[in-house]
Amino acid sequence: MKSRAAVMYGKAEPLVVETLDLAPPRKGEVLVRMGAAGVCHSDYHVISGQADHELPVVLGHEGAGRVVRLGEGVRDLSVGEHVVLSWIPYCGDCFFCRHEQTHLCKTYEAPLWDGTMMDGTCRLSNSDGPVRHLSMLACWADHVVVPQESCVRIDKSVPFEVAALLGCAVTTGVGAVLNRARVKPRSTVAVIGAGGVGLSIIMGAKLAGAGRIIAIDASPDAEAKARELGATDFILADVDVSACIKEMTAHGADHVFEAVGKRALQRVALDYCRPGGQVTFVGLDANDATIDLPTTDITRAEITVTGSIFGSACTTRDFAAYAQHYLNGDLPIDQLIGRRYRLDQINEAIADMLAGKEGRGIILFDEVAHG
Ligand SMILES: [Zn+2]
Ligand SMILES: [Zn+2]
Repeated sequence: MKSRAAVMYGKAEPLVVETLDLAPPRKGEVLVRMGAAGVCHSDYHVISGQADHELPVVLGHEGAGRVVRLGEGVRDLSVGEHVVLSWIPYCGDCFFCRHEQTHLCKTYEAPLWDGTMMDGTCRLSNSDGPVRHLSMLACWADHVVVPQESCVRIDKSVPFEVAALLGCAVTTGVGAVLNRARVKPRSTVAVIGAGGVGLSIIMGAKLAGAGRIIAIDASPDAEAKARELGATDFILADVDVSACIKEMTAHGADHVFEAVGKRALQRVALDYCRPGGQVTFVGLDANDATIDLPTTDITRAEITVTGSIFGSACTTRDFAAYAQHYLNGDLPIDQLIGRRYRLDQINEAIADMLAGKEGRGIILFDEVAHG
C-alpha cells in the first residue's frame, strides 16, 4: 500500500511530503492509520544533525491512531482499537522491566537508533530504496507499520490530538514530576522552559498539588499558556533569574526542572534550587553534552541532581492514567495544543516551534486542519 509521509533527505533541509510504498506488517507488527502527531524538538535534533540518523528517514515520534491490520502473531490488539505510539517499547522480561523501570529497557535500542524495524529492515520505501522509520514509529505519515510493543491501547473517548501528546510531551513532563521527582503537595517548583515538555511539567506540578509553580522562559509569548496551565509566577529569562527565585522563595525552589536541554540552563538550574532540594534534567542536549558541576556546593547543600527520560514512565500504566486525568478534567492536555496543521504544512509547523510559538503544534490526518 501507499503512505503519504514527510521525508528527511538531507541535514537542515526542508522535509519533502510525498507518497511512499508501505509494506504490510510482518510478524509481531501492526498497521496503524494515524489520527494525529505532535511536533517535538527531538525531531528537530535529527533535522539539524544534532542527533545523527541514517537518511532518508520519516520523522515523528509522538502520535496516535487506529489499528487497521495485524501482522502474524499479534494477539493483544484488535482492528479498530485506538493506540498511542510509544518511542520506548519494552520487553517485560529484562532486568529493568522486572524492576519496574520499563522506561530503561534496552531490548529495542539498536533498531530504534538505526531507524529500522526489529528485523533490521524497513517497511517504507521509495523508488531509490528503503526509507527509515524514526524510533520505529515514523508517525509523520498517514499510515505506519510499527512493532506491537510500540502500541499502547487508549480509550476511544480520548481525541487523537490529546492521545498523540501522551506519546511524548505530556508523559515526559508529567511523569518527571510524579514518577521521578515525586513532588509533594505545597512544594515550590521552578520550570526552565515553557514549551511542550515544560508546560507538561507545569500541568504535572499542579496535579501534584505544588503550592508555587514558577515558569521561566526566554519568550514573553510563553507566559499566557504557562499561567493557563498552572504557573503561579512567570520570569522572563532576560533578568537575574536566580535573584528573582531567591526573592520569591527565600531559600530557592524545592524542585527545579530543566525542560529545554541546554547545558548552560542545566548549570544554572542548580542556582535556583534550595539546600536539600532536587534538580531534575528532562530536556535532552547533544548526546555527548557535559557540564561542570560545583561539587562542593552540592555536597554542602545536599542538592540531588537527577535525570528523567520519557517521564520515567511505564507506558501501559501511565498513558491510561494520564488519559483518565484528562477525562476527569484535572490534566487539561487539550490546552497544551497550539496550532493544528495538515501534513503538507510540516515545515511551517517546525518553523513555528523554533520561533517559540505558544503551545504544541499538532499534525491532523483525518480532519481538515484549522490553522
Ligand atoms: Zn518528543
Ligand atoms: Zn525489558
